[in-house]
Amino acid sequence: MGLIKLRDKDIRIAQSQRFRDDALDRSWNGDAEGLIARWKAEARTMKVAIEYKSSHFGRWSKLSTTFYRSIRLGTTFKSRPPEWQAVTMGHEIFHARQWRGYGPSKFRTRYLFWTRWRWAIEVQAYCESVRVLVALGANDDTIRDYIADRPAVLWRNYAIKSIWKKDVYAYTLLALKDAWEEAERRVKA
Ligand SMILES: [Zn+2]
Repeated sequence: MGLIKLRDKDIRIAQSQRFRDDALDRSWNGDAEGLIARWKAEARTMKVAIEYKSSHFGRWSKLSTTFYRSIRLGTTFKSRPPEWQAVTMGHEIFHARQWRGYGPSKFRTRYLFWTRWRWAIEVQAYCESVRVLVALGANDDTIRDYIADRPAVLWRNYAIKSIWKKDVYAYTLLALKDAWEEAERRVKA
């Protein structure tokens, strides 16, 4: 079986728009703690628990959850700066919305068994992280570095090596740059 190829402007990425936090572009200028409080409330509404994990989750620890009954945040989470916490939590709360929006069984099947979907679900959530960075007023270098690191993070941590590596790099960067541009437009609108 050959390696999986991705397509330009993957349709799975566009689907994520409906899970976005539309308020992000408006009132959160630099207010990381406000965002975190907002998402804690959203998690309560979704009946998703937020827990602080121990370090034994091993390889899949980055997945954070048992498909999204709970969001498990890393052991070092509380000692990190609020901006870092907001970017991480924005990503995880987005997964909780995907889990609810696609439905638990569809989400689980796509995430666990369809490599292309696992890639897309993560890229969708990283797009939201980029939007959080913009909402927090991060400077361009910070956002550029964050985006530049994502393909390698995905490649290393998410068991997606049945996809062409160059596709993972190219289309992850493309999706994240689109998310950045769009977020900038919305902030300035
Ligand atoms: Zn993720």
